[in-house]
Amino acid sequence: MIERTLVLVKPDGVQRGLIGEIIARFEQRGLKIVGIKMVWIDEKFSKKHYSAHVGKKMYPLLEKFITSAPVVAIAVEGIHAVELARKVAGSTEPKTAPIGTIRGDYAHVSYDYADAKQISVKNLLHASGNKEEAEQEVGLWFSETELYEYETSHDRHVL
Ligand code: ADP
Ligand code: MG
Repeated sequence: MIERTLVLVKPDGVQRGLIGEIIARFEQRGLKIVGIKMVWIDEKFSKKHYSAHVGKKMYPLLEKFITSAPVVAIAVEGIHAVELARKVAGSTEPKTAPIGTIRGDYAHVSYDYADAKQISVKNLLHASGNKEEAEQEVGLWFSETELYEYETSHDRHVL
């Protein structure tokens, strides 16, 4: 049941000074950060990370966005971490994301607006979509030596 998942603070989150706020949302639930780094990815790496989206109409806009500034990559570990991280993030379209989620609390734009402006939906963060994606993405972004095992107080008092 203990899973690892990938969270990225996207360029808009980094440039808006929301790295700390976003990390706090995961820490406050007792999820463990087992890897963290800032990376400015290129087009080639974007195609690896978003391989499922390459070829879609929106992909070029997504690539332009995700390569526009550095991102903060975080490997997060916890019970049902994949599902929980998606819940903390909120749904993809900020307009639809519930209040209380990161996307619902810090953004409000719609797909229609992004389409009209010909930009990617700026929704602050990425969280792996399912267990297979999570395993693959943590492996893509982090080497084994960049991932740490250590004890937190949650290991003793929450789990
Ligand atoms: P999520 O990030 O919630 O897993 P997807 O994997 O479906 O969402 O899409 C990846 C990213 O591509 C989204 O987070 C968003 O930034 C962008 N995106 C997705 N769909 C659209 C769209 N219809 N118009 C503009 N950007 C989009
Ligand atoms: Mg996705």
